[in-house]
Amino acid sequence: MNIKTPKVIANWKMNLMPHQAHDVVENIIDLCPKASSDIIICPSYTHLYPLRDLIKDNIFLGAQNCHDKTSGAYTGEISALMLADLGVSYVILGHSERRELGPYENLSIKAKIRAAFNAGLQVVYCCGEPDSMREAGNHEDYVLKQLSSDLFDFELSELTKLSIAYEPIWAIGTGKTASPEEAQAMHLFIRNTISQQFGIELAHSMAILYGGSVKAKNAGILAFQNDIDGFLVGGASLDPNEFAAIVNVFL
Ligand code: PEP
Repeated sequence: MNIKTPKVIANWKMNLMPHQAHDVVENIIDLCPKASSDIIICPSYTHLYPLRDLIKDNIFLGAQNCHDKTSGAYTGEISALMLADLGVSYVILGHSERRELGPYENLSIKAKIRAAFNAGLQVVYCCGEPDSMREAGNHEDYVLKQLSSDLFDFELSELTKLSIAYEPIWAIGTGKTASPEEAQAMHLFIRNTISQQFGIELAHSMAILYGGSVKAKNAGILAFQNDIDGFLVGGASLDPNEFAAIVNVFL
């Protein structure tokens, strides 16, 4: 049984106009009056400032990415310090849609995590295998490589500010969800890996979230799994009713 505060994260990706964002978040808040989860809204950068006034209690703001440097000649980039200064608490790093942009994205994840920690942000670190790796039965090896190259160099004390989102790439935006058994097995594998590397205390306190076509209709059975501590929700987070129903499975 889980005793951690669940986290439910809305990854809006590049959707919704700034003037729509306020209404969507207000609706979510109205529809989740008894939420026992932390609700983290991750809109586009442009919406972070206007949404600041809605942060309270269990509602947090998150960004979908940050740069690994604090400042400098990096046209079009946003630093972790700039996000923290706006009242942002979380940043999603290593999302597969960013990893696909090219090798720099993968190689810079560790430095981005370090920059986020230095700025005082909580990190939601994404990992997960493509379809071909799952089909070949190599999904655990693939995720282990991601965890070891991105996380193993950190100190245990730093990783208390990190949650892991397991997001099988074949389930993101496809409508295809990992079965509760598949998700639970990978979450347990991730927790055991963290335990072996950093100790059982960190492994037990770390939130391991599932992402990949989570909807109101499948959230209940996924949330029931021992090692699923919350969700990273893409498409369904754009609809306040759907997202609120997902949040409310943790009541
Ligand atoms: C995501 O964006 O991280 C995601 C899981 O998307 P979706 O819920 O749409 O599959």
